[in-house]
Amino acid sequence: MVNDCDIIVVGGGHAGCEAALAAARMGIHTVLITIDPDTIAQMPCNPAIGGLAKGQLVREIDALGGEMAKVIDATGIQFRMLNTSKGPAVRSPRAQADKHLYKKEMRRRLEAQENLTICQDTVDSLLTRGSKIAGVVGGSGAEYRADAVIITTGTFLKGLVHIGDSMEPGGRAGESSAENLSDSLRAIGLQLGRLKTGTPPRLDRKTIPFEELTPQYGDKTPQPFSFSTAEITQPQIPCHITFTNPGTHRIIRDNLNRSPLYTGQIKGTGPRYCPSIEDKISRFADKDAHQIFIEPEGIDSDEVYCNGISTSLPPSVQEEFVHSIRGLERARIVRHGYAVEYDFVPPTQVKADLETKAMEGLFLAGQINGTSGYEEAAAQGIMAGINAALKLQGKPPFILDRSEAYIGVLIDDLVTKGTLEPYRMFTSRAEYRLILRQDNADRRLMRYGHQFGLISDPQWQALEEKESLINQTRAYLRENLYRGESLEKILRKTETHFDHLTELGSQHKLQAMRLPQDVREQVEIEVKYEGYIQRQLAQVERFKKMETLNIPSWLDYGKIPELANEARQKLSCVRPASLGQASRISGISPADVSILLVYLRGKAHRG
Ligand SMILES: Cc1cc2nc3c(=O)[nH]c(=O)nc-3n(C[C@H](O)[C@H](O)[C@H](O)COP(=O)(O)OP(=O)(O)OC[C@H]3O[C@@H](n4cnc5c(N)ncnc54)[C@H](O)[C@@H]3O)c2cc1C
Repeated sequence: MVNDCDIIVVGGGHAGCEAALAAARMGIHTVLITIDPDTIAQMPCNPAIGGLAKGQLVREIDALGGEMAKVIDATGIQFRMLNTSKGPAVRSPRAQADKHLYKKEMRRRLEAQENLTICQDTVDSLLTRGSKIAGVVGGSGAEYRADAVIITTGTFLKGLVHIGDSMEPGGRAGESSAENLSDSLRAIGLQLGRLKTGTPPRLDRKTIPFEELTPQYGDKTPQPFSFSTAEITQPQIPCHITFTNPGTHRIIRDNLNRSPLYTGQIKGTGPRYCPSIEDKISRFADKDAHQIFIEPEGIDSDEVYCNGISTSLPPSVQEEFVHSIRGLERARIVRHGYAVEYDFVPPTQVKADLETKAMEGLFLAGQINGTSGYEEAAAQGIMAGINAALKLQGKPPFILDRSEAYIGVLIDDLVTKGTLEPYRMFTSRAEYRLILRQDNADRRLMRYGHQFGLISDPQWQALEEKESLINQTRAYLRENLYRGESLEKILRKTETHFDHLTELGSQHKLQAMRLPQDVREQVEIEVKYEGYIQRQLAQVERFKKMETLNIPSWLDYGKIPELANEARQKLSCVRPASLGQASRISGISPADVSILLVYLRGKAHRG
């Protein structure tokens, strides 16, 4: 059987959903092949979207025309803006998801999408034509032909699920792994590595006395993720907080020799910033309590997620340590925690548009590139979908740089530095975070989404009107005085907020302008942080200069004898597109960059 289309997306996780939607919306006939369509957009770990830096990624995906923000707005059950007491650069939205509704809603949107077909199959191998991709072959024996393929297989490639000393193939608990595709990736010259991640036990909410625990409520007025959502209408419910204690730690410590993380059974490297409870107790031996958030998995679900106690200890030890925690003494474990090890492709083997260097038309996105997290996966997914579509349309690739978006930081880090452990996004990874705020993602990126046809004309016009209002308001504040001081100067004072200005008796015009909240917010941030923003913009200009000093892709680093061996090897492996990117490769020194600059200038001179 032969199925022809233009783009194939392998995998229906968070990367696959965004990739498939973007490509189909750009008018490309797309087929999404996934092991089980019932698990499309599954949240195998935390039932939440967003969080520090991840929230920025979701807002950026939305500004480009992606789906994650809209789906969480429709299915979220507790919204919180994090870090509201800190500056706007580090504020991030987060929402608990009703994970069952989330899955259902994302699938409904995929099924309603023109140009998009969903197929159930397990992709076993790649079809190639010389150095170009030609399609894939499924375990069913079906052949699917296409000019571009995007692989988004998450934790499934040779996935191995560990609980205590039990170890069996699986992409996630209860789901089969993809055993054959790794060999096909190796056969085209890709190198593969091994990573690991883990998840905590899920408990039966009926067995927990919540009145004994500390509740944590969401924001009074939940703020939507998507720039196109007017308000959140889902009912909102609280999470609860409890803590581990010295008794819990003793049980875990006494059983470390039964954890596959410590027996040597697990070989892959785990996420440093999302450690298992075994790791926390070993690494922070002096701490006698770790916080646990008890998070609902859905409005109608009896299962709750225990954020903070990811583990792969044997079931009996999980029971014992969970029961040692206040409020969980009689909790029934519905699903035990586990760890999963899987193959990934060290991402210096992909280019900044996420196409592999080994095979034209083959793109990789999501956890297969060494990342961890739904948002990181979705961000790469939309970029791979756009780039695969642009390639088929004969257009240049779409690459966001580090000064434009967290998505740019994420992909640049992956393709330039690579990663040896599951990579997750942090605000500290972004150099220009005062510019890359969650509140201005639309102003930074929507023009691209509109250019690709992923943002509708009415949405684009709404943004243009917002820009115009911001400009008018800023001019008004600059030009109008109150008791001899410009309104702009008054707003710059720490204790003044925009609403105070409208209260100043003589400023009727500001009241009459009836400015929407998002306009007032933009003006206030721009005015208050103007000095810092200007400084960062100057840094961006210097950065852009380095980024425009292009290095030709065919450059033979072996012919630059002044470079040290290590630098030559690293530059040949990453093949940076610019001197800026070259300077970010770990192990490349400023001296190496100067040598390259002199060489390139000489070459340009020699012609
Ligand atoms: C146990 C566990 C714990 C986790 N813990 C954390 C954590 O602590 N912190 C964190 O940030 N993230 C965690 N994650 C990671 C998070 O789930 C992923 O980062 C995110 O879901 C990756 O998205 P993805 O789209 O790349 O892949 P996934 O969401 O894994 O989706 C992969 C999709 O591809 C399909 N597929 C795979 N192989 C094939 C094939 N050969 N043919 C067809 N279809 C295929 C699968 O069926 C699935 O639909 C955890 C994941 C698991 C499983």
